[in-house]
Amino acid sequence: MTQEKSNEKIQQLIQKQINLPSPPAIAVQILNTVQDEDSSLTDLEKIISADPALTGKMLHIANSAFYSLPNKVTNITRAMSILGTNVIKNIALSFVIAKDLKGIYASYFDFELFWRRSVTTAVAAELVKNIAAISDDDIFVTALLQNLGILILALSKGQEYSHILETCQMGDDAACLIKSEREKYQFDHQQLSFSLTHSWGLPQSISEPMRYHREPEKAPEEFRQTARVLSIANLLSTIYHGTETTDNVLLLQNKMKEFFDLDTHQTQTLLDDVAEQSIDIQKTFDLDPGQMKPYSQMLQEANEELGRLNFSYEQLVMALKESQEKSEKFAKELQTANKQLEDLAFRDGLTNLYNHRYFQEILETETARAHRYKKDLCLIFFDIDFFKKVNDSYGHPAGDQVLIALAKQLKVAIRPSDIIARYGGEEFMVILPETNESGMAVLAERLRRAVMGITTEFNEFKINVTISSGGVYFSPDHGGITKQNLIDTADRALYMSKKNGRNRFTILPLSPNPE
Ligand code: GH3
Ligand code: MG
Ligand code: MG
Repeated sequence: MTQEKSNEKIQQLIQKQINLPSPPAIAVQILNTVQDEDSSLTDLEKIISADPALTGKMLHIANSAFYSLPNKVTNITRAMSILGTNVIKNIALSFVIAKDLKGIYASYFDFELFWRRSVTTAVAAELVKNIAAISDDDIFVTALLQNLGILILALSKGQEYSHILETCQMGDDAACLIKSEREKYQFDHQQLSFSLTHSWGLPQSISEPMRYHREPEKAPEEFRQTARVLSIANLLSTIYHGTETTDNVLLLQNKMKEFFDLDTHQTQTLLDDVAEQSIDIQKTFDLDPGQMKPYSQMLQEANEELGRLNFSYEQLVMALKESQEKSEKFAKELQTANKQLEDLAFRDGLTNLYNHRYFQEILETETARAHRYKKDLCLIFFDIDFFKKVNDSYGHPAGDQVLIALAKQLKVAIRPSDIIARYGGEEFMVILPETNESGMAVLAERLRRAVMGITTEFNEFKINVTISSGGVYFSPDHGGITKQNLIDTADRALYMSKKNGRNRFTILPLSPNPE
């Protein structure tokens, strides 16, 4: 197969599985202005100046250590004439795209860390570019966005993808990550980053090198040098934000020697510069750099600590080994404790189903996902009929047993991708991602029948209950969607089932969004 054909096939695979989000409007404006031969510097300037926060950030970057300008620039016109349209365009794009894709929250993916890593990668790429003496105005934005594929996969594949990340050292093991992605989806995040930025109309000089940022030697000649810079920038960022530090520093030293003939000392200076500037620039992206500090400072602090201990080498090795063993044991215990804690925080004590709080969180994420990626989403709300009577006739503990039995059966009746939660006393919610109206109807009917088939034995009593439910479906052509909107509509549908005689299911389409 020719390269072009196989690319086309990958694009089709991606489109089949993933609805790529559209670019932020202001990014489109910026790109159009730059591509339009007739437009002038002033047009770009107008777009930027219309947003005072963006203007402030742009000036902060222009005055940062990056460009070491002799005098402070205080307006965009001046910044443009000194740094050039291309640089200004790229900084602006970086801010607007990052801002648009920030602020999403899901318990299974650390979006904040993703962006901190990306900013460090972008800063690193800019610094490595200077060392490599390549002239590439696009490198900052290219490096910043090179891992967007990871973000999009996390958003559209949810927990399934976080398992892949976990298996591959949170993505630090690039070879493992790419292999696992290809096995699971037949494409990898590099190709997805390319597809996304390409579909947004970013120039080839930005989108193409992304496709090879973890395997630069496979890149066509014209993009190879940039892809190498991207791969090294990734490594630099991993040193600061990943789990393995020492090994990666050694790897970096080897690569810098091989590609750019840099000695250990020069590489160390680069490492420190990356941290110093990333701390500054993360703040401009409204990120908290936390404990990040330059590598040599980390080393120095470690040495001081060692000095204070004043052990012989052998004693030190023994102590180290002991403490490693202890910490491994501790890490295992911590993992178990965390899992238990997580369960406590997310699960309901009686039924072991997800609790109300977690339900709200998941529905929020799923709503945003359905809206953004144009996916179907359904919600079923159900309530046990005449449950008060069960308590009154057999006692509260009997009622509890009914709830436990119900939860146990229902958990097996749904698909693993569906989420069932205890919403309140004898009220439950089932979130059905990527399910349409008829799929929901089938499941609701199955649940209703399953409940009818459950007999809870309590002392000498045999207790049977029924449920009434209300379902709501959202399909992408509905337009807007909010979490509350879904809950309210399902609640109304449930009320109708109760009113019409109970032990039944009612569906309502999502009512028009208040937005
Ligand atoms: P309807 O068909 O209209 O839903 O009637 P209902 O009796 O189920 O509704 P109502 O809201 O009047 O009563 C709900 C009852 O559920 C009252 C409450 O004591 C009981 N309940 C809520 N949580 C629990 C629980 O954790 N354990 C037990 N045993 N009962 C509970
Ligand atoms: Mg109720
Ligand atoms: Mg009830």
